Amino acid sequence: MMLVPHACVNAAAGRLFSKPVAAFAAGVVSHAILDLVPHKDVSAHKAEGLLVLIMLGLIGTSCGLKSPAFWCAMGGVLPDVEQVLPWTDPKRGRHRWFPTHNRPFHSLQVPWAPEYRVRLLAQTGVSMMALVAATYRCRPAGSG
Ligand SMILES: [Zn+2]
Repeated sequence: MMLVPHACVNAAAGRLFSKPVAAFAAGVVSHAILDLVPHKDVSAHKAEGLLVLIMLGLIGTSCGLKSPAFWCAMGGVLPDVEQVLPWTDPKRGRHRWFPTHNRPFHSLQVPWAPEYRVRLLAQTGVSMMALVAATYRCRPAGSG
């Protein structure tokens, strides 16, 4: 999955939680679930990284840095950090530690439509809606 939906969908889902720790744990689990969905990926790591930092900034400033929304988004983003680490790089004979970053568990095939993958445009659309849902009337705790 692209990194942006991991951040945005999780931020929206994070609003269902009251404790940041629980939201963070759910965020990591949600990363695995989203990775299982058949999807296309982009290999523009720097652009994705920058976009996600902006998203996290938006979520952090709207909902607060101690909010479940922010920490659920963090839980969704952190597993993908290993995608750019040299010591988990399969090209260097290393293994990714996160289960859905290895072949059989990444982007499962739909049995009756083996070519089907969620396109980048759809992922972006869902992300934008989720970002609105995540930040709509979200205020840092204790402010106004
Ligand atoms: Zn991932």
